[in-house]
Amino acid sequence: MNSRIQQLVAEVTPTVTRLRREIHHHPELGMQEFKTSQLIQRELNRIGIPFRAPVANTGVVGLIQGKEPGPCVALRADMDALPIQETTGLPFASQVEGICHACGHDAHTAMLLGAAEVLWQLRSELAGTIKLLFQPAEECNPTGGMPAMIADGILESPPIDAAIGLHVDASLTTGTIGYRIGALSASSDRFYITITGKAAHGSAPEAGIDAIVTAAQVIMAVQTIVSRKIRALDSAVLTIGTIKGGDRYNVIAETVTMEGTCRTHNPLVTELIPQLLEQTIKGICEASGCSYKFDFIKGYPSLICDERITLLVRDGLSQSFAPEKLFNILEPRMGGEDFAFLAQRVPSTFLRIGCTPEGVEKPVPAHNGGFNPDENCFAYGVTALVQGALALLKGLH
Ligand SMILES: [Zn+2]
Ligand SMILES: [Zn+2]
Repeated sequence: MNSRIQQLVAEVTPTVTRLRREIHHHPELGMQEFKTSQLIQRELNRIGIPFRAPVANTGVVGLIQGKEPGPCVALRADMDALPIQETTGLPFASQVEGICHACGHDAHTAMLLGAAEVLWQLRSELAGTIKLLFQPAEECNPTGGMPAMIADGILESPPIDAAIGLHVDASLTTGTIGYRIGALSASSDRFYITITGKAAHGSAPEAGIDAIVTAAQVIMAVQTIVSRKIRALDSAVLTIGTIKGGDRYNVIAETVTMEGTCRTHNPLVTELIPQLLEQTIKGICEASGCSYKFDFIKGYPSLICDERITLLVRDGLSQSFAPEKLFNILEPRMGGEDFAFLAQRVPSTFLRIGCTPEGVEKPVPAHNGGFNPDENCFAYGVTALVQGALALLKGLH
């Protein structure tokens, strides 16, 4: 089976590379992936895989039914590009001014199409179902595309038993794959604070209520949330990124507005932070006589990889990857990933696919116009999806 998979992956890899370049050439922002959606549907039609489209506007859901009944394993790729100007100078660089695939979602879509073609050829030997999730708008925090896919019924008919997502990773060498049990990405929430006092002449503070002094106390006090209220072993970042207030040098400011973000891994801490923020703001504003408005916008939750699913997938991948190429990522990342919404609903795992050629010391990171994952990583990504899916079909049976 193993050499057969290798052979099938080798056969589809040139197509994966060609499709990735085609998608890269025509990038589309989240929820506008119409051409990308058409390309996916065209390829699924070519292979012969039945699908449902559109799902969540531009998404596509393919279904590979095995010969025997069994569990349903979902494989997910995101499809959208970023509002960033490409600077790679590649012959297949973005044709669209100011938009490019700087996060590698072109590669994810192409690799999932490659894995789909391999799994389709193996369908007579499969017990269970593979659900192919081509998802829009991963970059559209705080809503993302995954909640819309879930609302559009992807968890049903048949119900998904486990899911695998993946992302190219410039910090890892081509040929290596990282996995992790537990938190892999951070929750990314944002908040808005308005503090309102009372304007007065700058020479008569007793006649007003100074919103700037109150805001200053709030800023300092919220910094103690992470250091004094959160367990030292739990990670959290709390940043106030903007502050605006006051109109004139000799007027006591009536209003200050601030915006911030917080990032956490432990879902219990994610829940706790807005309560602690409001408690702190409320206390200080009450003491100073200001009123306040506090809005907390939930973004992507932290992506939690299920232990059992991750270990099953790792064991499956170990048939194709040497132990030194397949490793546990020691620390979670602080970035966001909307696959987390799916991982909240079904036990899931997420793989980081190394995409920097050996010897390159300072690779261009994702979300940079020069980002260009090594195309040699595609065969590894396809293999990982195929081996991971097979391992789960077998392991969950
Ligand atoms: Zn991204
Ligand atoms: Zn991404």
